[in-house]
Amino acid sequence: MSWRPTFGTNGVRGIANEELTPEIALKLCLSLGTLCSGDIAIGRDTRVSGEMLKSAAISGLLTTGNKVIDLGITPSPAIQYYVKNNADAGVIVTASHNPKEYNGLKFVDGVGMEFSRDGEKEVEKVYDKGEFKRVKWDRTGELIIADAIPDYKKGIMKLIDVEKVRDKRFRVVVDPGNGAACGVMSSLLRELGCEVIEINAEPDGAFPGRPPEPTADVLGELMAMVKKSGADFGVAHDGDADRAVFVDERGKFVSEDVLLAMFTKSALEKKKGVIVTPVSSSSCVADVVERCSGEIAWTPVGSIHVARKMLELGAVFGGEGNGGLIFPEHQYCRDGGVAAAKMLEILCAGKTLSQLADEIPKYYHIKEKLRGEDKDGVMQKVKGIARGKVDTTDGVKLWYDDGWVLVRASGTEPIIRIFAESKSQKRAKELLQEGIELVKRASG
Ligand code: MG
Repeated sequence: MSWRPTFGTNGVRGIANEELTPEIALKLCLSLGTLCSGDIAIGRDTRVSGEMLKSAAISGLLTTGNKVIDLGITPSPAIQYYVKNNADAGVIVTASHNPKEYNGLKFVDGVGMEFSRDGEKEVEKVYDKGEFKRVKWDRTGELIIADAIPDYKKGIMKLIDVEKVRDKRFRVVVDPGNGAACGVMSSLLRELGCEVIEINAEPDGAFPGRPPEPTADVLGELMAMVKKSGADFGVAHDGDADRAVFVDERGKFVSEDVLLAMFTKSALEKKKGVIVTPVSSSSCVADVVERCSGEIAWTPVGSIHVARKMLELGAVFGGEGNGGLIFPEHQYCRDGGVAAAKMLEILCAGKTLSQLADEIPKYYHIKEKLRGEDKDGVMQKVKGIARGKVDTTDGVKLWYDDGWVLVRASGTEPIIRIFAESKSQKRAKELLQEGIELVKRASG
């Protein structure tokens, strides 16, 4: 076995049956089962390799004497909500937004949050040692099947003014992208009084409708359907439905940064407090926070950093500029279902989605990636030579009065990413160039 599973920003990921084999899934879950004891819930997205890896994972958990609750094909946030309320830990078999040949394993702790880096290190230690707990034959675990969806939906309904939303009878186009959101999001929206039109709504791990990552360039069908049907908006999810992105009533994709700022505004209008977001997020979020007299806290890139910081600070909302939105009144993880329901509530005030998006300050946000075999060494040098207002929360971010540039090493690939942003396109390009020069000087 040459491929060694390493936990990245989203658990373990690899090409199924080539890198991430059932043997590895078994060993990872023997490791988890050695560390935990109790009730462990497991669920998956629609990937073709999902059942194969889930079966191996279940075997590891039963071998170590744990009770396993199989939730079947279910959105990640519904699995996490189930764990929070009913189990001691969870395993999610998903590669989220990655292409169809990939799959992954993500571990969830007793409060429904993704494992911290420390938790993952514990699992890695047991995995590498290979000494697993093995219970006597009459102590091996029991396997039951459960449905996490009803409680997940009930939990969401509690967060919003259902009567008000139902009265509006919104028309919504849902694109679950043949992923774990299939059936769940449409029924949630129907219960909220919406007329729902679905596309790519058959669970299918070959993802025939579109790739699992809901980027603007693959959502043409959704945009066209929103326009054609006269819908109030369209919503699309990634493979495991923890992310949600939106298309406005004119059929235009709403940038995820704008989305994050819109939800930030709505959260702060309800309750003043702290908003948490990674250093890579657009300044339009910070602008909205300032306008609404809130506070902003920056974290390293990765939803787990955002979620844990939110818990620590008692934040009112947080999220990433990729459609990963975290609503703490529900749970501390990205949640595509809550995002869709909250969007309905936001629209109840009478403005259209395009009008709301237009209210958010505009920035030019550009990025570049450079190959960096020794990315960590280069980043060390970048830190040494960067001058000015330097923020090292994640990589190196240089703040200026009229913009910023962020240089950071990718968590998974031999790549250094550079992001720049300003209200002027020309200035954004200059800042990007400054970042590129910095990396070149550090590499030379
Ligand atoms: Mg995802």
